[in-house]
Amino acid sequence: MTKLSTEAEIPLTGGADSWHTHEVPQDDLSAIMMTDGPHGVRKEVGDTAMMVASQTEPATCFPPAVALASTWNPDLVHEMGVALARECKSLGVSIILGPGMNIKRSPLCGRNFEYFSEDPFLAGELAAALVEGVQSQGVGASVKHFAANNQETDRMRRDSMIDQRTLREIYLRGFSKVVRRARPWTVMCSYNKLNGTYASENHFLLTEVLRQEWGFDGLVMSDWGAVHDRVKALTAGLDLEMPAHPAHEEAVRQALAAGQIEAGVIDQAYQRVAAVVRRCQENLEQDPAPIEVEAHHALARRVAEQCVVLLANDGVLPLARETKVAVIGEFARTPRYQGAGSSRVNPTKLVGALDAITELLGHEVAFAPGFTTAPGQTLPDTAHDDAVAAARQAEVVLAFLGLGEDQESEGYDRTTMDLPAEQLALLDDILAVNPNVVVVLSNGASVLLPFADRVRAVVEGWLLGQAGGPALADVLYGLVNPSGKIAETIPRRLQDVPSYLDFPGDRSGVRYGEGLFVGYRGYDARETAVAFPFGHGLSYTSFAYSDLGVAVTDQGMTVEATVANTGRRAGREVVQVYLSVPGSSVVRAPRELKGFAGVELAPGESRRVRIEVAREDLTFWSVADQAWLLESGDYLVSVGSSSRDLRLAATVAVTGDEPVRPLTMSSTVQEALAIPAVGQLLAQMAGAIPGGAEGLAMLKTMGDIPLETVAGFSGQEVAIQALIDQVNAQLRE
Ligand code: BGC
Repeated sequence: MTKLSTEAEIPLTGGADSWHTHEVPQDDLSAIMMTDGPHGVRKEVGDTAMMVASQTEPATCFPPAVALASTWNPDLVHEMGVALARECKSLGVSIILGPGMNIKRSPLCGRNFEYFSEDPFLAGELAAALVEGVQSQGVGASVKHFAANNQETDRMRRDSMIDQRTLREIYLRGFSKVVRRARPWTVMCSYNKLNGTYASENHFLLTEVLRQEWGFDGLVMSDWGAVHDRVKALTAGLDLEMPAHPAHEEAVRQALAAGQIEAGVIDQAYQRVAAVVRRCQENLEQDPAPIEVEAHHALARRVAEQCVVLLANDGVLPLARETKVAVIGEFARTPRYQGAGSSRVNPTKLVGALDAITELLGHEVAFAPGFTTAPGQTLPDTAHDDAVAAARQAEVVLAFLGLGEDQESEGYDRTTMDLPAEQLALLDDILAVNPNVVVVLSNGASVLLPFADRVRAVVEGWLLGQAGGPALADVLYGLVNPSGKIAETIPRRLQDVPSYLDFPGDRSGVRYGEGLFVGYRGYDARETAVAFPFGHGLSYTSFAYSDLGVAVTDQGMTVEATVANTGRRAGREVVQVYLSVPGSSVVRAPRELKGFAGVELAPGESRRVRIEVAREDLTFWSVADQAWLLESGDYLVSVGSSSRDLRLAATVAVTGDEPVRPLTMSSTVQEALAIPAVGQLLAQMAGAIPGGAEGLAMLKTMGDIPLETVAGFSGQEVAIQALIDQVNAQLRE
């Protein structure tokens, strides 16, 4: 085999068409295929050179990430990953473009349905499980969109301006977990700029952080059309431009000739592409089995069952089969089950809630669509009144409300969190004739629920995939006990959202002004009342928590608690561990999720649940040290059923690894005083300081004065420097 020339390698750093790499006979490489994802295989039929083909092969549409995240169940997510990969194999696809794991910085982001959470720990755990599941079958995943792509508005150009600590702790932390734990074959860089540089040209992101710090050894591909300058991109660490821009190859050729890019950079990118293609080739099956339609539909249903979140319930649910219900809302008949844009899957089957309820009960139920859910759809003028009339006749009204496909999508953001006015007006009119209303929601991101206190139950169905209908019916009638927990806070007002003032920014960029205080971190810090807190979700049974035990270990912490099912139904509880560092020397959210575990319990059963919190999840990013550090101090460990339903708490002492900081002329009086034995000497040098309370007060006012200023005031520079040297010598011992 002769080595390819650099010239020959240049085109291979771009795709052959929208979905394939190039064939390279000299290196025995065939063209491998990648397709969207993330919640189903979206393989275009026909001419793959055209990106906007309308037809795609049927494949199982599993619940998108917004719903999947509510399961808090990595094992189930892993199982879904395995099924996704098997479908890829059936369709000859080697890489699935997902999971998407950007942080939900604002509920308005049009693509939130495709992302997991406002919390990086939860997003990281679930995305890692999905990648591991997919790749266990010899299919590659592509973790996207790296990084800080948290909105759709102007997504191809906008500069995400994020301070270092926030970037590390919120926006990169989940990616880091996935890359290091699940070792994805590929990562997809995002469209946006990060702190002034396009992600596709960002050396810090693609090389320093991703490869040098996290040890990523796969290939970085671009989001579709995210490369502006392939020379800069290759130099920054990108390997594959998707799809290839015709002019970019020539630009690389010229840059090579002009000595503006090294041959080694091009070769390295090609070798990374080749290595992944080889892996794909080794795993492609010659004669793959067809998609297991029924088995995967059943799995999609099982997953959907765990996605459903019971937000509120006064006891009206579960329904008895004999209850006379009226089903209101077009969403019950025509389900909204996935998001719009590049992730749209052509489902193998589709069952809506109305059909599922009818089947479950074995007879027809009263139904009225009430309102339209898609542009162009028409209903008789009497639709609203017919729905109210149907509601009047029923014992319980099941009102299926939600967002239409045109109200949230990849490509643009929402401007409001309200449900459509038409639906809210209908709900008001229904409530006027029948107070027994259960609202069932279909939406890809949280919506305001001003009616939550006026209805008897609220079921958050998110977008549940092709088998969402039966899953909802089973939850409503108690065949399934709901166990989902929301992975994003549902606020009371859009104005309360921590990123409200800085979303979506403007042409000058989007300033992540809320810093670390994204989602519940922000609501908790301001003690803002919310509609439903992060991690919330009810069950038809109840759980009691007792006997918290926390042990600090070299690996982090082991948290144990006993959870008992105190109700009359079997159920699954998601036990959540939050951490606070009350006396921290750095700015922190009041509490952060650091661990969770699901536990299935029969009525009356109790179990000891053990959750390991990894040491690396306890650290913070020190800007001064450019490193992750563990702070010494007392940590408050809280365990509970949601971020605002904490049942048990314990304080433990942690010995950290912060470096000893030498004293310098820039150190403040307070910092110096914190070192034993310095105090008295320093006080003398600072001049005559009276004793007693007055002296203490004066010392306090001096606390933030740097030593060099004290030296200036007191004329004691030589003595202070000597003191510094002496103290530092002691610290080094
Ligand atoms: C999306 C990606 C997707 C790609 C290919 C882009 O517009 O941002 O998530 O994988 O298109 O369809």
